[in-house]
Amino acid sequence: MASGGSTRRIDEQWARVSGRLRAEIGETAYQSWLKPMTVREAEGGQVKISVPTRFMRDWVVAHYADRLTALWAGEDAAIQGIEVVVQPDRPLIPAGAPKPKLAARIQGTGGEGHGAAARPDISAPLDVRFTFENFVVGKPNEFAYAASRRIAEATAPPFNPLFLYGGVGLGKTHLMHAVAWHIRKRNPERNVVYLSAEKFMYRFIRALREQNTVDFKEQFRSVDVLMIDDVQFISNKDSTQEEFFHTFNALVDQGRQIVISADKSPSDLEGMEERLISRLNCGLVADIHSTTYELRLGILQSKAEQLGVTVPRKVLEFLAHKITANVRELEGALNRVVAHAQLVGRDITIETTQEVLHDLLRANDRRVTIEEIQKRVAAHFNIRISDMHSARRARSVARPRQVAMYLAKQLTSRSLPEIGRKFGGRDHTTVMHAVRKVEELRERDSAFAEDVELLRRMLEG
Ligand code: ADP
Ligand code: MG
Repeated sequence: MASGGSTRRIDEQWARVSGRLRAEIGETAYQSWLKPMTVREAEGGQVKISVPTRFMRDWVVAHYADRLTALWAGEDAAIQGIEVVVQPDRPLIPAGAPKPKLAARIQGTGGEGHGAAARPDISAPLDVRFTFENFVVGKPNEFAYAASRRIAEATAPPFNPLFLYGGVGLGKTHLMHAVAWHIRKRNPERNVVYLSAEKFMYRFIRALREQNTVDFKEQFRSVDVLMIDDVQFISNKDSTQEEFFHTFNALVDQGRQIVISADKSPSDLEGMEERLISRLNCGLVADIHSTTYELRLGILQSKAEQLGVTVPRKVLEFLAHKITANVRELEGALNRVVAHAQLVGRDITIETTQEVLHDLLRANDRRVTIEEIQKRVAAHFNIRISDMHSARRARSVARPRQVAMYLAKQLTSRSLPEIGRKFGGRDHTTVMHAVRKVEELRERDSAFAEDVELLRRMLEG
């Protein structure tokens, strides 16, 4: 515990720091976020600050931590960071002091009178990076994005539920958190709960064991927006599905919003009850497709910007071509390249990138060979494999050949000349032309785009 003298010093520093920040961020933000803060101590280079709710903690950490640290370091050079903790009862505030506005709002009786006063915090924490602002929109995810935004901005459910589905690492969780952040920011009195289906099940089973299911039901039934991530997890878990179904119906009947995610469409989920599937199908079903080259490039640019580093465009293009599995892997690759460059103090080039990621690139290569691509594409378009190497120029064989070259460029780390050689000794400019042609056709012709996408998915297995 700090002595009286140093407590006074900390209080004075805090008064100056918060005064500066107040001037920077304006009165409203000050009242909402800074005023409810209590400075606990400054020790070991860390200032410890408490706030009344977890939401405030997440928000403060995401938006003000860096600035607060910098301002405080200006007061005391020993300060290197701040730590924000949740302390609901604020014991350091003298009795009778006015309650901070926002905390009162969050914990108050709530606008709709459904028990917000005793609102238990059953939501899992949100990732501060998963906001709409940080989400890069492209063809594969624009529908899911638009639907999520619509939900986030609506006051009554525009469709119920919103069912988001797609493969791993394509942004489902990111979009759900973004919806939650958006609503919590705009309407802090709305009770938004985000949970993985696994957690939901775990809670339910614990309630059963502790014979506490009434509380469990109450908790969920006072929710305004319920988001359950990865529901494929409760397939084949009959009692959990049953409970989920009842919770679901109760909330929908009361006009509350539900958002669900899964790795498959409702109808493709195995081990799900028919009536649950039909309810899930009732609202809006939005799928997130595999990434395209353009989206991957956009995401890389945005991530590099967030990291505050300049990465040569050639390197970003290289990564967008090679790391095609999902966004998570793409992000991981970029982080590795950047971390390596910073560590050894060298520029980021294609060569260093290849070096740093050799295992990952090899794994991507191993996934599919040019021969496999040729075989699959030939079978798909019903032509002979030998036509992949032949000189025939009829559209019926030339187009599939171009598709195969395009996929070879996308799915392997072979260079253009290498690819050309595998296609009957063609020149690298022919391969380049094929890649451009296919990209152009994909833009113009959605049936063609789907064909290519289908092939890509099959090849990636
Ligand atoms: P999922 O839940 O579908 O498995 P996540 O939402 O966890 O995938 O996304 C994996 C990672 O990729 C996260 O770090 C997320 O921020 C990032 N990500 C996915 N899609 C995008 C996008 N369109 N823009 C920016 N980042 C994205
Ligand atoms: Mg997820």
